[in-house]
Amino acid sequence: MPLYEYICKGCKHEFEALVRPQDPVPSCPSCKSEDLEKLITAAAMASDERTRDNVKRERKARLPEHRAQQNEEYQHALKEHLHDD
Ligand SMILES: [Zn+2]
Repeated sequence: MPLYEYICKGCKHEFEALVRPQDPVPSCPSCKSEDLEKLITAAAMASDERTRDNVKRERKARLPEHRAQQNEEYQHALKEHLHDD
């Protein structure tokens, strides 16, 4: 079932509505106006988020392990150095 996000052009109220083909146009729960702007669906955003997460994970997996370790050592050395000052 498609879940849509709407913003009311009248009062700028944002809300989500389940819209089935047989349903009438939803109206703003705040001011009852039907002058709405449809935003991206929550479902579409969720899958976008998942895709981004996957890309991030893949990039991380491709990072050579020794580089991550080097960075850790560097951070440690940096901390030691700051401590000495
Ligand atoms: Zn409204």
